[in-house]
Amino acid sequence: MSKYTEEEKAYFEKEYQDLLRLCPKGRKTEDNLAMIRKAFDFACHAHEGQRRRSGEAYIIHPIEVAKITAGEIGLGTKSVICALLHDVVEDTDYTLEDIEMMFDKKVAQIIDGLTKIKSALKTKTEQAENFRKMILTLSEDARVILIKLADRLHNMRTMDAMPQHKQLKISAETRFLFAPLAHRLGLYSIKTELEDLCLKYENPVIYKEITQKLKDSEEKRQHYLNRFTIPLMIKIESLGIDYHITGRPKSIASIWNKMKTKNVVFEDIYDIFAVRVILYNIPVEDEKTISWKIYSLVTDLYQPNPDRLRDWISTPKENGYEALHTTVMGPEGRWVEVQVRTGRMDEIAERGYAAHWKYKGHSPEEGQLDRWMEKLRETLVNPHQDPVEFLDSFKLNLYTNEIYVFTPKGDLKRIPQGSTVLDFAFEIHSQVGIKTVGAKINNHKTVSLDYKLASGDQVQIITSEKQEPQAEWLDYVHTAKAKNGLREMLKSERKKKIKIGQKIAEDALAEAGIKLEEGIVRRLLNGYRQSNKQELFYKMALGQMDLSKLVQFAQKKRENRFLRYWKLGVLKDKPQEDDQAFDDKGMLILDDDSNYSIAPCCNPIPGDQIIGFKSSSGIAIHKYNCERAIYMQANTNAEIIKIKWTKKREQSFLVRVKLMGFDRMGLISDITKLISEDLNVDMRTVHFDSFNKKFEGFIDLYTHNTNHLNNLMGDINKIKGIKSIERVEKMD
Ligand code: MN
Repeated sequence: MSKYTEEEKAYFEKEYQDLLRLCPKGRKTEDNLAMIRKAFDFACHAHEGQRRRSGEAYIIHPIEVAKITAGEIGLGTKSVICALLHDVVEDTDYTLEDIEMMFDKKVAQIIDGLTKIKSALKTKTEQAENFRKMILTLSEDARVILIKLADRLHNMRTMDAMPQHKQLKISAETRFLFAPLAHRLGLYSIKTELEDLCLKYENPVIYKEITQKLKDSEEKRQHYLNRFTIPLMIKIESLGIDYHITGRPKSIASIWNKMKTKNVVFEDIYDIFAVRVILYNIPVEDEKTISWKIYSLVTDLYQPNPDRLRDWISTPKENGYEALHTTVMGPEGRWVEVQVRTGRMDEIAERGYAAHWKYKGHSPEEGQLDRWMEKLRETLVNPHQDPVEFLDSFKLNLYTNEIYVFTPKGDLKRIPQGSTVLDFAFEIHSQVGIKTVGAKINNHKTVSLDYKLASGDQVQIITSEKQEPQAEWLDYVHTAKAKNGLREMLKSERKKKIKIGQKIAEDALAEAGIKLEEGIVRRLLNGYRQSNKQELFYKMALGQMDLSKLVQFAQKKRENRFLRYWKLGVLKDKPQEDDQAFDDKGMLILDDDSNYSIAPCCNPIPGDQIIGFKSSSGIAIHKYNCERAIYMQANTNAEIIKIKWTKKREQSFLVRVKLMGFDRMGLISDITKLISEDLNVDMRTVHFDSFNKKFEGFIDLYTHNTNHLNNLMGDINKIKGIKSIERVEKMD
């Protein structure tokens, strides 16, 4: 037996007819109408027996929300269905699966989003957190947000029966969350109404007073409006344009704002209304010209304030708003704001982007709706222009370059766009970060450390006790937290390794009765061709140095050929133009023990143009055009030092060359023989891979300068089978 009275049933039916009238005309296919009817009947049935605090049947609420969705926002069938069903899952025993079975997957997804927002708002977390979740939902379907706004608007309109503390809580949420959101989406009339309703509950005395005063002054205002507009109407009439002029008072909330900020009383506010000139039946291509023509008519009659001219036609606001605004001096020396719009612009202004598609052809297809939904979503997440008002009340910009990902337990983490698995791991904890080997995304896909995460990903970090942080990981991380954490780890790892290396050297030398003192260290540096002892010990710990030569090097006095390192001349103050201008004057000469290092990203050798960066750990030398160096110049405040190679002494520098060609018997021995015997160049490592007769190889060798290297490469290139040889900048 139905729990609705006959009277109620008749009322619902009338409401249903109202709803249909509000639905976009082009979409009233038989199928669509049948679906709306089905949703309507199902919602009536599901909410049967439920009543709102005011005593009226609960179903009135979803019906009104559906009417707002269609009539005030301009959405289509699917949204109307969702609006009718929006509280079913939350408030009745029906589930999402039921909805999906009765309707379709999309409807179920939207209802799911609406239900999630509802429960998010119920939790005690900060509102900012809820907002983020809403934005997240948005990325799936913007209709969720629009229907939520309709829901909120109807709730705000019907809060009278609620206890005051609830009214205040809901108002606060509306003020900080929903009204800015409506503004951002260009839904001006909804935004204005929401703000007025907030004031009504938050400050009922003021609300009543202003409402009353607006009513009392209506006649006077109308009189003034006539004086202002009649001369204007005569002029517009002569152009033969279809138009409408209104003098709508400003919203109660904005009048109250003005009273507060300017510290004035109601009677002192002159521009309580704005005169709006709406021009109909204007072809889109003529809109701008005709709007400016009207502007010209207005300013022929009244003196404009040049500071208050706003041309939102040439550059529409981010939320789609278009109009021409000016403020002129009206009769009695009062400022009056005049807004000029076409019918199309007016609809966009009142109903937001939803009105756009209406003017772009009449095919009311989902695809088109999806496109403006996409545009709307972009608008929401990319506030480039004029979001000032919005940002002031809600710091949306905090979230625009960020993505939201979930831990396996469902906790939400906010990280910058472009973040990788490794960033996320460091976000959890640096101890997790350094042990990370990869991750499992959304419970199925296994990805590597440098995998870029997307919003909504659920990330399960995979760690291994055997993992050790690597220097190249710095290329995979974006967040400051991960970068700093990683650097710290690398530094302390390196320190540990250096100590281990030093111990290895000490122990090995002790067996030969040699003490590792400074003179010996210098001999070792020379023997192993390393530029500083930290590097030497570090490489020893990593097993990259041949320990069998340790004692031999420690006993060997410096040879002449590789006796000294190149000296680096550091120009103080004045940069020098060329080599001729280069002399000892004004130069700082670095000796062997000077703390400089060759940057591993570009490995410059004498002959390359170079640049130095001074830091607490010494001077890092980069190639002049090294990408890293260019980045550092632009983004750090490391001291830049103009620097050149001196020609005084010789040092050998390690470079890597890459060889490619066709493999043949004896090729590798030909190459290595040429390098080490004929050219008398030391090689450090040689690595060749051969496949399908082709080979690719790397040789690390010591060279003096670019001339030396170029000659060497020329000689190697002459070997039969070699197709190409090139220098590789980045070595490790
Ligand atoms: Mn609701």
